[in-house]
Amino acid sequence: GQKISTLVLTEADYIKYKDPKQPVGARIKDLMKRMTLQEKIGQMVQIERSVATPDVMKQYFIGSVLSGGGSVPAPKASAETWINTVNEIQKGSLSTRLGIPMIYGIDAVHGHNNVYNATIFPHNVGLGVTRDPQLVKKIGEATALEVRATGIPYVFAPCIAVCRDPRWGRCYESYSEDPKIVQAMTEIIPGLQGELPAKSRKGIPFVAGKQKVAACAKHFVGDGGTTKGIDENNTVTSFDGLLSIHMPAYYNSISKGVATVMVSYSSWNGKRMHANRDLVTGFLKDKLKFKGFVISDWQGIDRITSPPHLNYSYSVEAGVGAGIDMIMIPYNFTEFIDELTYQVKNNIIPMSRIDDAVKRILRVKFVMGIFENPLADFSLVNQLGSKEHRELAREAVRKSLVLLKNGKSADKPLLPLPKKTAKILVAGSHADNLGNQCGGWTITWQGLGGNDLTIGTTILNAVKNTVDPTTQVVYNENPDAEFVKSNKFSFAIVVVGEPTYAEMYGDSFNLSIPEPGPSTIHNVCGAVKCVVVVISGRPVVIQPYLANIDALVAAWLPGTEGQGVADLLFGDFGFSGKLARTWFKTVDQLPMNIGDTHYDPLFPFGYGLTTKPTKN
Ligand code: BGC
Repeated sequence: GQKISTLVLTEADYIKYKDPKQPVGARIKDLMKRMTLQEKIGQMVQIERSVATPDVMKQYFIGSVLSGGGSVPAPKASAETWINTVNEIQKGSLSTRLGIPMIYGIDAVHGHNNVYNATIFPHNVGLGVTRDPQLVKKIGEATALEVRATGIPYVFAPCIAVCRDPRWGRCYESYSEDPKIVQAMTEIIPGLQGELPAKSRKGIPFVAGKQKVAACAKHFVGDGGTTKGIDENNTVTSFDGLLSIHMPAYYNSISKGVATVMVSYSSWNGKRMHANRDLVTGFLKDKLKFKGFVISDWQGIDRITSPPHLNYSYSVEAGVGAGIDMIMIPYNFTEFIDELTYQVKNNIIPMSRIDDAVKRILRVKFVMGIFENPLADFSLVNQLGSKEHRELAREAVRKSLVLLKNGKSADKPLLPLPKKTAKILVAGSHADNLGNQCGGWTITWQGLGGNDLTIGTTILNAVKNTVDPTTQVVYNENPDAEFVKSNKFSFAIVVVGEPTYAEMYGDSFNLSIPEPGPSTIHNVCGAVKCVVVVISGRPVVIQPYLANIDALVAAWLPGTEGQGVADLLFGDFGFSGKLARTWFKTVDQLPMNIGDTHYDPLFPFGYGLTTKPTKN
């Protein structure tokens, strides 16, 4: 005889999984028992933004959406446009029977790099040089804010690959050839996700609310160890080799509560990682006690066979069976859903495997608070490309440059350069090119040359901002020797390097600076005192030009804040960076890494000259 007023919830109305006061475990349990097979399989699916209509989200119970490299709602889309796009998709998910929110993921690998006007930080190859985990943590915090500013709660970062061969087209996504540096740089994870509470259980994913994002340690495992650095290829090493070089940073990532781990396209001793149950389930989940979810790479299960998609039934069985929880499809999602449904109904994939996957995905979603806050508001839009974040990026640039040569003799250093002088030359294909300065994974997957792609400061403009107003700055992209001789320049700054690239398109067997880079060095440095700044994702062939060059700076891929380069050249700050990679003499020495028995580099790991700040 209990009296129930219309304002009081009956027991039947109370939905446990929607109650944030319930422990996560209880919420998962409650939700799982309400879900149909179709709803569970939908959670395991990640599709591309361009196919993610609200209807699709609703009809297939899709668990996640991504922006594939360069997939944007509109060219130069504003933060508001991004938010509206993400929210629109989310409303489809929220209108399902159980209202499970989707999570939207994006490759924010050096800042929020798909988005116009975001702060673009140096790529990881430069951040490794800094040896400064606290700085990298702050970069994680800034990136989380900029990503959340556009309504997105999940990033496919950090890449914790240990690049052992610079011929690899993804070398710039790696902090170092030294696993210890990569381990230290996993401090970006608490930056992105927030600090794991001290009493947390081992392997539990953690994301601290609306100003943080779920991170993704990638690519598990051995991605940086493939033969000759060929992308998506085979890493040949013993289990001990894997444990000592490629695995250590996963321990750190998991102990910092990383929410997700992405599987590598590569193989280990001939076996595709996407089909490697021993490592994905046996090692990562069982031994390391990772409790977040494992995500495939883009079409990763298709690529279990070569050619890809040769035998899709086999790929689905092998990939899901290996322990992959969320599948980055990204387009033909009905094919996957039908195949997996068939396999579960026919006991090819056990129901327990599906339940494991869905529980992990739901755990991450509950922990993130996305059930409570599924829709983004506009409160963070001013974070995108903010002054503070650009200052932080500029500091990171300053700490990531390495001074490799300073003067033809040690007693006559060229740097720091004087701000006040008659006339200076700035030259080279990369001096006034923001896109080249940012590298791949900037606005588009492969990156873009030119100055129109986003907002930032080129090195040329940084030089102009820095010198005394009476100093004349002459810019000539590729001057001939006569031009250089006939002008009476005090000195020249030559900025050359690699074009933009990503993944396999960046694999290179010669690692040379393309023309006209070498001619510019030749024409300028043969005629006037010069500092050469190299913009590249890795060490490149430099030995043939070295004698001609007065000062040499490795600037890697510094991003939008070119002012950091001028801060060092003109002595407002001192050079401090030390190589986090071995700089080879000739490509036939590769692979060559710190600790090798035959080690005869041009510049060894750890090398880097210093300068003192000047008042000039
Ligand atoms: C890359 C991943 C990336 C994914 C999603 C793949 O091609 O290997 O690193 O996260 O695309 O864009």
